[in-house]
Amino acid sequence: MADKGFNPFVMAQTQFDKVAELLNLDQGTRELLRTPLREYHFSIPVRMDDGATKVFRGFRCQHNDARGPNKGGIRFHPQETVDTVRALSMWMTWKCACVDIPLGGGKGGVICDPHNLSMHEQEQICRGFMRQLWKNVGPVNDIPAPDVMTSAQHMLWMLDEYETLSGGHAPGMITGKPVGMGGSLGRTEATGFGVVFTLREALKDLEIKPEATTAAFQGFGNVAQYAMRLYTQLGGTVIAVASWDNKDQESHTFRKTDGIDLDKLLEITDRFGEIDKDKAKDQGFEILPGDAWIEQDVDVLLPCALENQITGENVNKISDRVKVIVEGANGPTTPEADAVLQQRNIFVIPDFLANAGGVTCSYFEQVQSNMNYYWTRDEVLGKLDLKMTDAFVAVSELAAKKNLFMRDAAYVIAINRVAQACKDRGWC
Ligand code: GLU
Repeated sequence: MADKGFNPFVMAQTQFDKVAELLNLDQGTRELLRTPLREYHFSIPVRMDDGATKVFRGFRCQHNDARGPNKGGIRFHPQETVDTVRALSMWMTWKCACVDIPLGGGKGGVICDPHNLSMHEQEQICRGFMRQLWKNVGPVNDIPAPDVMTSAQHMLWMLDEYETLSGGHAPGMITGKPVGMGGSLGRTEATGFGVVFTLREALKDLEIKPEATTAAFQGFGNVAQYAMRLYTQLGGTVIAVASWDNKDQESHTFRKTDGIDLDKLLEITDRFGEIDKDKAKDQGFEILPGDAWIEQDVDVLLPCALENQITGENVNKISDRVKVIVEGANGPTTPEADAVLQQRNIFVIPDFLANAGGVTCSYFEQVQSNMNYYWTRDEVLGKLDLKMTDAFVAVSELAAKKNLFMRDAAYVIAINRVAQACKDRGWC
């Protein structure tokens, strides 16, 4: 997102450069992996409901496909920037490599605000996006998926447009589709559940029982809602959640120190994850400023919203009680804040490991779509748990063995795999 002075692409490159140095990567490979291989910038003209034509800007970045077709979501956000999409495409490459699925990294975005668009207008944006891009995506080169403010319905419109243009059915060209229309059972809950599979493993390493922990979340969208579901099923207590209020154009932290009842909170939440303030007061919530989630006296912090949330400015507000930070969002922590977390010995489960459950399940969805044979929810979630647990164990073992910060250990594994694939293909 655009924010004065913060550039997520510079941040992604800074993280990469640090580990490239650690790995003593050759200059050619560094240059190749610091930027997307390809990017597409385009305009999407849309006839709005009032008859006027509005032009939306869209982007798709394909960072690296040495290990398999590019993969990653498409975001709709009013503050979208091409540098955000570049950074996110890069993080997708590391994410797929970290969990060892045969896919590369891509990401797309459209500058728009779905809060102010009718469903018909959003459908036109989806179809326009595909008309611009259909020759450059597809099951063998780039497979989009949902992301911030896009859903299964958006994916189905995009698939329909793609199939119309390319002639024939190709459900493996996009993931996160509705169940029954090529989607996979378990995909909706996959990212949030994956976040908690990694948290469960971290708590095991730290010899802490989940039942004895409390947590604060930032964000109450798809990722946070399902992470909260599984975390509370494991016995954890959520005491605070921050969510964006579109009317107020700011976020608020909703706190209940005796524990949040997720189902009751969902009853007063809209499809964007926005919680109704007045009804929350009736449910007994305290309403605090949006950034109060970070200073809660809890064991676990889960930033599950956007990038650039834990920064040099607010990192010191984190309570001494916090033992684990699980990054459900992409890029929530800046390198400056990272240095402080490392020095304070807080166990960080980095974004491209913690939130890899979504793309891992997308991979399962693509496999099922290509076979045209669908698994049960238990089968999908069982495979997801195995994949996430294996990836977590590999990263935490490397971190322990080489005395590395978890983020750096995850980067070492991911970059090594991608660099090796580029080398094996003779690219560098
Ligand atoms: N948008 C999700 C992510 O950032 C999922 C991507 C996918 O399923 O391809 O990981």
